Formats: sequence, C-alpha cells, structure tokens
Amino acid sequence: MDNNKSKIVSISYIVLMVIFIVMLNSGTDHSDKQHGEAVEHGTGASTDHDNDPAAYKEAVEPDAKAQKLAALNQVLETIAATDNRPASRSGEDEGENPFGAKISPDVAIGKLIQGNIRFAKGESTHPNLDAERRLLAATESQADHAFATVLACSDSRVPVEAIFDAGVMDIFTVRVAGNVCDVDERGSIEYGLAHVHTPVLVVMGHTQCGAVTAVTHAVQGHGHALERNIPELVANIAPAVKKAMELNPDVKGDDIIPVAIEENVWSAIEELFMQSPVTREYVTKGYVKVVGAIYDIGTGNVDWLSEDKTLDILAKVEASEEKAVIEAGAAKESHEEEAVEEESARTEEDGDKEAAPEAKEDGDKKTAPESEEDGTQEEAPPADADKA
Ligand SMILES: [Zn+2]
Repeated sequence: MDNNKSKIVSISYIVLMVIFIVMLNSGTDHSDKQHGEAVEHGTGASTDHDNDPAAYKEAVEPDAKAQKLAALNQVLETIAATDNRPASRSGEDEGENPFGAKISPDVAIGKLIQGNIRFAKGESTHPNLDAERRLLAATESQADHAFATVLACSDSRVPVEAIFDAGVMDIFTVRVAGNVCDVDERGSIEYGLAHVHTPVLVVMGHTQCGAVTAVTHAVQGHGHALERNIPELVANIAPAVKKAMELNPDVKGDDIIPVAIEENVWSAIEELFMQSPVTREYVTKGYVKVVGAIYDIGTGNVDWLSEDKTLDILAKVEASEEKAVIEAGAAKESHEEEAVEEESARTEEDGDKEAAPEAKEDGDKKTAPESEEDGTQEEAPPADADKA
C-alpha cells in the first residue's frame, strides 16, 4: 500500500472510530484515556472506550440498545470495507509491532460483540463457512485472518464459534473443562497471540459450569470421588472457589457458584499473566487486550467483565514477589540449559579429538599398506587431515 492511500485509510479509520466511540459511550460516563497510545501502533484504530465495561454491558443488551447497535453495525461494516490491510504482514510496522497489519484490539472486540448479539437474537449470519473460506484457509496464513483467541470451557453448551457467529479461520480456540489456564492452555494462548497474532484474548467462563460446581461441592465437603486425571485439572479451580467463599462469607450453598465462576475467570487471567512474559509484554504495549467474560448458556449473551480489573491484575502480577521468583527460576533454568548445551558441545568436540588419533592410527595401519601396494601415496593423508 502506498503512503497516500495508507494515510487516507488511516484517517478515515480514525474518523469512523471516533463515531464508534461516541456511539458506544453516548449516555455513559466516560473519562478514561489510558489506551489512547495504541493508536500509534499500526492500525490507528484503537479507541479508549473499552476501559469502560459499561459500554460492553450496554452493547450486549440488544433490546434496550437496538437502535444504537444497528448504527454500530453500520459503522463497523464501513470500517471493514475501508480496512484495506495488506494480505501479508509486510507493513511499515513489521519490525516494531507484529500485530501491525491486524485489526486493533478494539475492533476485534467489536466484532465479537456484534457476532454475539446476532447469535443471541437468533440472527446469526454464519460467516466464513463456505468453500471459498476453506480454500483461503488452505492457502493463506491464519495469522493474517484470525482475530481472537478464546479460552473457554469444553461444555457442549459453549460452542465458541457459534456464540460469536464466527467461522473458519476467525477464532483461535482453547477449550478445556472449567476454562482453566494451566501449562498446556498457556502454551496454546501464547501460540494464539505470538504466532497467530490475534489482537484480543477472551477468557470466558459460563453460567452453570459443571466443573466449577463440582469443585465448589468438593470444597464445601460434599463432593464425589473423582476419576484419576480429574483432580489435577480441578486443582486449578479450587483456589478460585475458596477465594469466592472468603470474599463472600454471607453467600451460602450453591449461591456461591456464580461468584466462583467469575472468580475462576480472574484466576485464569492472573495465572496467565504470572506465567507468560509474552502476554504481559503484548498487553503492556497495547498490541493485545485480555478480556474476561461470562457466557449465559440460557440467553446466549456474553457478559463482558471489567477491563480495568484485567489491567489491575496485570499490575499486581508485575509487582508480585511470586512473578519475580518465577522469572528468576526461568532465568536459572535457561542458564542451566545453556550450560548443559555447552557441556555437550564440549564433550562432542573432545570426542572428535579423541577419535581423531584412533582414526589416524587405523588409517595408518589400514591405508598405508594398501597405499604401498597400490603404489599411491595420496590415500594416506586423510587421517591426518582430521587434525585440521
Ligand atoms: Zn464449564
């Protein structure tokens, strides 16, 4: 894309996003400017509305806000039409920002909100599910198309692509019972962010989660015996349930379950930040937004949780002793690995040196007589050549 065209697209993009912000925020108190800097990072499409969770909440109440949403729909469609980014990420920001050619976190969140509204209203359009899209998937990098990573529960009532009315090559999905964030899930998320370059990560719990319910009952002392591999899985959920109970001592019985479900989302986000330096880096630089959400399996609505709280968790993790210990441990491990590699390289080298004289000896013994027999002196030297 040449510079002038790029400028025109950027300017129209910014203008459209201003309209987008005004629409999302009309009628809500709004003063947070924290993420304005993201405008500088490539897409020029970042807004500052999103630190106001009320804006999201409004957007997922389709009946009350139908008119506003229809207008929002139009704005996003216009953005999509003018969002003429290069097919491969060879844009001017490539060196600096690996997400340079992708839509901004805010536009990605907007697409998820829109898709979910369509789904909840029974108006899904089932995009990107045709043969043309499959052909595209087979011939292009998903990193040029997928716009969200979602960590969600395996529950059959939580079909991620359907919930966001998305299709092939749209969402990098990680699903595991109880949407926990242990090492495999963190690795998958890191892949979704660092390699598929999705500008948003949604950590999504859901109402009536069986995993959280089972753990809550276990913590309350009336759980069932669990199959061999399940305790290790639910060990990730128990601290969230206990925290929910501690913070809400007056909430008894199953009433604590919805609180625990939300706490479990925060716990997954904290665990991710704690253990994933690359996620911390991308969020800090504004390349990626991490958003918590709760999906209501009855209404189909996604309830978007406070983005401020996500940033609070990140700040807490950055300042924590635990993170410092983990980083120190990782650095030590990496040093040890390097040392082992160096040692094995040295051993190999020594092996070569030791092997060389043998070869020479063998060479002398075997090749010399042959050489003599053949009358050629040239075959003997290769053994000596090992020295060099
Ligand atoms: Zn579940």
